[in-house]
Amino acid sequence: MSNIIITGCSSGIGFATALLLAKNKHVVFATMRQPSRNTELQDIADNKNLPINILPLDVTDNNSIKNAIAQVLYHTDKIDVLINNAGIGTLGSVEELPIEDFIHQMDTNFIGTVRCTKVVLPHMRQNRSGCIINISSVGGKIFNYFNAPYCASKAAVEAFSECLAMEMLPFGIRVAVVEPGVTDTPLQDKCKSRIKETRYPNLERCVAFFSASRAHHIPPDVVAETILHIVNRESIKFRNPTGPDSEPILGLRASMSDEDWIAGAGVDEETWIHIMEEMHLDVRKYLTRI
Ligand code: NAP
Repeated sequence: MSNIIITGCSSGIGFATALLLAKNKHVVFATMRQPSRNTELQDIADNKNLPINILPLDVTDNNSIKNAIAQVLYHTDKIDVLINNAGIGTLGSVEELPIEDFIHQMDTNFIGTVRCTKVVLPHMRQNRSGCIINISSVGGKIFNYFNAPYCASKAAVEAFSECLAMEMLPFGIRVAVVEPGVTDTPLQDKCKSRIKETRYPNLERCVAFFSASRAHHIPPDVVAETILHIVNRESIKFRNPTGPDSEPILGLRASMSDEDWIAGAGVDEETWIHIMEEMHLDVRKYLTRI
């Protein structure tokens, strides 16, 4: 049985992970920005008598993180696992997205992970045990057009996690990264492009890619299972690609030169559609201009 803190539990992967870990007898401190507006997890926990404690935590606010961790340490004397899950996404071109979108995305996805990690590290280091699980993405390894803020933030999470894993070796603290492919959560709808008029016609390809990927979406429970395996030490791998499309797409990218990958963004529409169809993605119906 481990004491586990998870960020971003109001929906999606955080929600599913909190439930699965609690069903497996772990004590879960499920945090979210606004518990009073997201009572579903609390209701399920109460009905099923699951060991889930809901706490407010905003990963962009250091005081909020410190308060949440202080509350956890009031309930228990040991934090075994921190799962940095909270995240946001945006689609759009570098030119047209406002700088605030880049800052907000880095602040939430990357700096939020750093903030939470820094607050639990002294505790874990003194105990000489602990595990930090960072929810990255296939997008942290494979970079695609119109996804620059998200990919940059997840690439930063990847680099940070690898550095941290080395620093933690002398203290017996494990670090693991989870790399889900496209997963069926509210994130997909939240990260539709807010740009109404664009000078970049291929932005539509990016939107069509995510829409077509919905047919292959995995439920967030699949990601929660991967996280459970890491918590239970059934996986001791540092990187954990998750979902049926993750390993093949990571393998495909690794097999290509950088130049060929980048040039792929410049192919004509029919060639691009054909490439997508080979990946079983029916993008044609989402392209309005053909
Ligand atoms: P989701 O359902 O939208 O969940 C995101 C969670 O993060 C929500 O609980 C959201 O809370 C929370 N959050 C956002 N900003 C926050 C902040 N400042 N402080 C605290 N919590 C905040 O999406 P999801 O797919 O489960 O995303 C979870 C993680 O998986 C993210 O890191 C995401 O990048 C990663 N991921 C997702 C996919 C995918 O296809 N869905 C693929 C790869 C990786 P609110 O309700 O308050 O907004």
